[in-house]
Amino acid sequence: MAAITSVVDLAMDGDVAVITIDSPPVNALSADVRDGLDGAFRAIAANPALKAAVLVCAGRTFIAGADISEFGKPPRGASLHAVQDAMEESAVPVVAAIHGTALGGGLEVALCAHYRVSDAKAKFGLPEVKLGLLPGAGGTQRLPRVVGAKKALEMVTSGAQMGAKDALAAGLVDEIVEGDLTAGAIAFARRIVAEGRPLKKVRDDTSKLGGDAAALAPMFADFRQSHARAFKGFDAPEANIKCIEAAVALPFEEGMKVERSEFMKLMSGLQATAQRHVFFAERQAAKIDGLDPKTELLPVKSVGIIGAGTMGGGIAMNFLSVGIPVTIVETKQEALDRGVAVIRRNYENSAKKGRFSMEEVEARMGRLTPTLALEDLKDADLIIEAVFENMDIKKDIFGKLDTIARPGAILASNTSYLNVDEIAASTTRPESVVGTHFFSPANVMRLLEVVRGARTSPQVLATAMATGKAIGKIGVVSGVCHGFIGNRMLGARQEQANKLILEGARPADVDRVLTDFGFPMGPFQMADLAGLDIGWSAETSKGVTVRDRLCEAGLRGQKNGKGFYDYDADRNRTPSPVAEAIILDYAAEKGINRRSIDDQEILERCLYPMVNEGAKILDEGMAQRASDVDIVWINGYGWPVYRGGPMFWAEHDAGRDTIAAALERMGMDVSPKLKSGW
Ligand code: NAD
Repeated sequence: MAAITSVVDLAMDGDVAVITIDSPPVNALSADVRDGLDGAFRAIAANPALKAAVLVCAGRTFIAGADISEFGKPPRGASLHAVQDAMEESAVPVVAAIHGTALGGGLEVALCAHYRVSDAKAKFGLPEVKLGLLPGAGGTQRLPRVVGAKKALEMVTSGAQMGAKDALAAGLVDEIVEGDLTAGAIAFARRIVAEGRPLKKVRDDTSKLGGDAAALAPMFADFRQSHARAFKGFDAPEANIKCIEAAVALPFEEGMKVERSEFMKLMSGLQATAQRHVFFAERQAAKIDGLDPKTELLPVKSVGIIGAGTMGGGIAMNFLSVGIPVTIVETKQEALDRGVAVIRRNYENSAKKGRFSMEEVEARMGRLTPTLALEDLKDADLIIEAVFENMDIKKDIFGKLDTIARPGAILASNTSYLNVDEIAASTTRPESVVGTHFFSPANVMRLLEVVRGARTSPQVLATAMATGKAIGKIGVVSGVCHGFIGNRMLGARQEQANKLILEGARPADVDRVLTDFGFPMGPFQMADLAGLDIGWSAETSKGVTVRDRLCEAGLRGQKNGKGFYDYDADRNRTPSPVAEAIILDYAAEKGINRRSIDDQEILERCLYPMVNEGAKILDEGMAQRASDVDIVWINGYGWPVYRGGPMFWAEHDAGRDTIAAALERMGMDVSPKLKSGW
């Protein structure tokens, strides 16, 4: 075996050349890999005795994609296009032997082979769209020539992976190899040589596209229309679609030019930078500053949950779904029954949609133990409290847990705002207490704020983060402050939104500006959805806020079809004249002179104070890093991914200085970090 570079070897198996890439962990297409492939194909071209070549990867996967750490840096080594050309133009057939995941650039390289074989577990995909990009190494031109325009469209715009069986059916692989992949690929290569099969160059084959430009136009139109909502705001999906259209309408080289130009546009745009930032930020969030990465985790093999309401039920589902038994506690049988019934209904609905079987529903429900006795939590490894947001009740529960829970058990609170240190102080083991702030619906939303109390032990913190990961959440560490990272910033936005509707904007204007920005809904739609009467009661209502008055007038939000908006049976909304009148009366009573407020002011007043609050959170060390704040907002509050999160947006789009100056004009106290950077 001859080393071409430190990561690529070329060996001869008789008259078949075997190129092996061995660049852990995922054989990404780094400069060394490209140089190695370049050298290998030159050596193959110079050896007339060879009949075929096999390209295979060592380790856990075929080339899993580009080396994204090279993005944005000056080019180095052989260009990928040159390597692909050398491969496709090879005088002897090249067989790509695929295991693991052939993703992005990896699949684009494989598409330049004349034949592809894989093992039965291999997966294929072009996930570039998830980073705000498109496959820029011929993927948009070659993939439709292999699997057809429609399937290619789905793959490039979703970034979804295809399994080996489907890949075989779609023609993406020619054979699934049983047993040793390299040996199977060599045997396959010998067979095609013996049979005199042609050098199949994907670029030259238009037979599988599925029709010409005119015939496929309605398919493209349908596709755009049916995905309009999902693609809204994102540049990359449309650029990917245009490239597939080009593959159908234009000769290969012309299509490649379109791909190149669309790729460059995306690459130089802010969205791709933002989406790449989010990709890395998500991984970064898992790291806990000042914590020994070798910190031993505590076992979490059984979970206790207190409160079977909206949150307790959703939280329980996370654990039941991954096989961890849950004991759930309520004070009254009726509440317990209701909570359990909701969990069952949610699972049954998923089963009806075909996500899993009815047996699976029973298996999950079988792991749930409902009880009215707090004592039943005595053996639980992790106990999560999700009762009413009331400090006295929470303290009472933690005091009791202190006497019930086994030593070393983790005692967590799902509080949204309350002081976790105060809760911890009601126990004799504050080191075991941590906040685990889930988001609603807790079985769906990916964010988990893990609140680190002043005395939370490193083991408890690390275990809470690891447990979050185990149930599919993205954990972000927050310090103890009112509303933690997310709700604290939301509060800053809500305060402005509430003022804006008194000063002259309408709730629907505020909502529209924020949804146009890319949020799935605005603050008043959100209030209607959550219920205007959260935390409100007729007995104690003092009528001091607009919301009190809306509730007093019988407006409860979506649940009774009346709120800031009126809702019809299909939940279509129109601004409520009743709410409008209440707001106008309230403003008049407070002596507020209403004026016309433009969209730019709405946007700035909603978002700038929020960014300022995020910066203050950093000033106070309540978040570990600015990118954690971004992850909270993207995964918990629907901040558009393509805008990278509020702190990224402030730094790279709106501009910190611009925001600071505007806040000063508004008379607000500006965070030092907003001025100096984070
Ligand atoms: P909820 O009213 O739906 O449920 C609370 C449940 O706790 C009720 O079923 C109640 O019967 C039960 N309960 C009360 N006292 C109890 C006790 N002593 N022992 C056992 N059960 C008891 O409330 P929720 O929306 O699920 O909120 C629960 C917690 O989660 C609160 O701290 C809230 O701030 C927080 N939270 C809520 C949301 C949300 O969107 N709803 C989001 C994040 C966090």
